[in-house]
Amino acid sequence: MNVAREIILKAEDLPSKWYNIIPDLPEPLPPPQDPPEGYSRVQDLPNMLLKECLSQEMSDQRWIDIPEGIRELYLAAGRPRPLFRAKNLEEKLGTPAKLFFKSEFFSPTGSHKVNTALAQAYYARKEGFERLTTETGAGQWGNALAYAASLNNLDCTIFWVRAVYRWKEQRLKFMQMYGAEVYASPSNRTEFGKKLYSKNPDHNGSLGIAISEGLEEAKKDPKAVYCLGSVLNHVMLHQTIIGLETKKQMELAGEYPDVVISCLGGGSNFGGIAIPFMHDVLKEKAEIEFIASQSRAAPNLQGEYKYDFADHAEMTPMLKMYTLGHHITMAPIKGDGLRYHGCAPILSLLRHHNYIDTVAYPEDEKYVFERTREFVKAEGFLPAPESAYSIVCAIDEAEKCKENNEEKTILFNVSGHGFMDMDGYAKVLGLKKQQDRA
Ligand SMILES: *Cc1c(COP(=O)(O)O)cnc(C)c1O
Repeated sequence: MNVAREIILKAEDLPSKWYNIIPDLPEPLPPPQDPPEGYSRVQDLPNMLLKECLSQEMSDQRWIDIPEGIRELYLAAGRPRPLFRAKNLEEKLGTPAKLFFKSEFFSPTGSHKVNTALAQAYYARKEGFERLTTETGAGQWGNALAYAASLNNLDCTIFWVRAVYRWKEQRLKFMQMYGAEVYASPSNRTEFGKKLYSKNPDHNGSLGIAISEGLEEAKKDPKAVYCLGSVLNHVMLHQTIIGLETKKQMELAGEYPDVVISCLGGGSNFGGIAIPFMHDVLKEKAEIEFIASQSRAAPNLQGEYKYDFADHAEMTPMLKMYTLGHHITMAPIKGDGLRYHGCAPILSLLRHHNYIDTVAYPEDEKYVFERTREFVKAEGFLPAPESAYSIVCAIDEAEKCKENNEEKTILFNVSGHGFMDMDGYAKVLGLKKQQDRA
């Protein structure tokens, strides 16, 4: 054995600060804005977000202490997480590239979303709240928040897009195991939901509608606060724990990435792994290629760079971001967590300055899942359908290295596991029951 397959950090190596990239960006980050008409959403922000998160949202402090209580929670959630060298996959592909992947799939609920959920729940408790409210689309965020609420002795109310709520029964029960109350959205629990529900109790719902319900639910209870799982600056900040650990691990392996890859929906797992390395590019002249892997169902990085609402109902301030428009309808895909109309403002700005490349894969997901299956067979870990986009992109880059005989070091993030998404894989890949002999 001459190659380290698994690079592990000890508990005491868990980072003690998050990295805030805002002061190091190539230009000041455009602030949230109000639409030309209507009430001020910006003035409403302190009523929407946790005090601590809002202050992090605007902070120009480069390093922000991770409170001891949150570090404890990270340890309890199994951090630091291992970094793996995908040696089997390299051999199978016959590529001279070195492939490393970060294991966010080793998460109690199945994804990287616990990294910000734990922080937000911790702050909520400290600020005296008793209940968290949120929306969820694919279910990973709702599940992560239900878990984080439970560990912090808070209640949790989740509005889950009905189209997904209907078929992900295992995930629903998982959220309920933590004590969360989960409503299919639109529900008859909020004024906004009722309008749609009364016309059609079987309404499919959408992320935008569910956000509106989550916000309204928090507004009518002074003990409740609304939490968001991606896009915003403080979420990116919390997720830098991924890349900060990975930097230490690459150093232990004696390697440095030429390419950093991850899937991108709203940008939190991509930002998590990329931002600490982006620091080196912006401040220390490192040369790294960053690739965000997306679906053609929601290629938001190929949209327009402009101010747009973060939600369908236009309850949030407008953010300067790459967007497809907040009313766009998207094709259904199994990697449902990648279906969001906009990309995080921090990453959008970096994309605008050409620091981030992007690819978008076909909506039928056949190629994505087939190539991901090669990873599953070689390395043994079952990724979330969203994470499959990270893997296929890494494989494509490794294939290019083979063609050009380049020995690049490729780092990619595997944002979650797919234990509750087998139906999606089975459908696209055509996995069937074996027939008995006649
Ligand atoms: C939510 C989710 C994503 C997409 O969201 P980002 O904010 O872009 O990271 C990707 N992978 C998994 C496993 C998710 O749960």
